[in-house]
Amino acid sequence: MPPGIQDRYARHEKLDFIGAEGQRRIGASTVLVVGCGSLGCAQAALLARAGVGRLLLADRDVVRPANLPTQLLYNEADVKERAPKAEAAASRLRAANSEIAVEPLAGEVSAANIEALAARADLVMDATDNFETRFLLNDAAVKAGKPWIYGGVLGTDGMVMAVGPGKGPCLRCLLEMPAPENRLPPPDVFGVLNAAAAWVAALQAAQALKALARGAADWGRMHTLDIRNGSVTAAEVPRDPACPCCGRHEFKFLKPA
Ligand SMILES: [Zn+2]
Repeated sequence: MPPGIQDRYARHEKLDFIGAEGQRRIGASTVLVVGCGSLGCAQAALLARAGVGRLLLADRDVVRPANLPTQLLYNEADVKERAPKAEAAASRLRAANSEIAVEPLAGEVSAANIEALAARADLVMDATDNFETRFLLNDAAVKAGKPWIYGGVLGTDGMVMAVGPGKGPCLRCLLEMPAPENRLPPPDVFGVLNAAAAWVAALQAAQALKALARGAADWGRMHTLDIRNGSVTAAEVPRDPACPCCGRHEFKFLKPA
């Protein structure tokens, strides 16, 4: 540990849902962050600084000019170098916290590798921008019995739900298939307010830290955020006993087409 920062996590340890023991568990944890865009940057920054012991950062893209307003880990030099996002993010996070391990995975997350990645993680963060990948994460996480934190942002709105296999509903209890009507327009169409993405990511990170420290996230509680008027509402999502994923254990998204 670098000199002078022995009390690094003191303010988190003061929190009743973390404490010294929770902080130790956070430090012993591995978290997979799927996507290093606006949500992934903010999530990874919060989790790295909170002392998550190992972060696996997956993204296949390079940094572009339109990323700079919303993706808080990147800078103009990254744009110039067309730096892979996972690698640029890892380098910033290592500079913020040299006590943790950060592993960049510059490539696509798909049915071919998601199970191996989920097996290495204690928890998975959704920082994707599409439902196809979320259904893949949902299948892999439920199959492996690992929690994952759903999060989405569009314009100034967002949604967050912690999925705990065996503790509450999964994404497919809520939504059948990534049908065309569930297909979100890309951020280029409706835009994303940077503050909205940071807010969604912060709520996801808080759920993740609660889960890692005490196993006590708000499982199955869908939070709906609108930063334009500062509102947050929450509703319990019921578990569907006939859910093909968490009910019948049919993991069809894990099978490559
Ligand atoms: Zn389910």
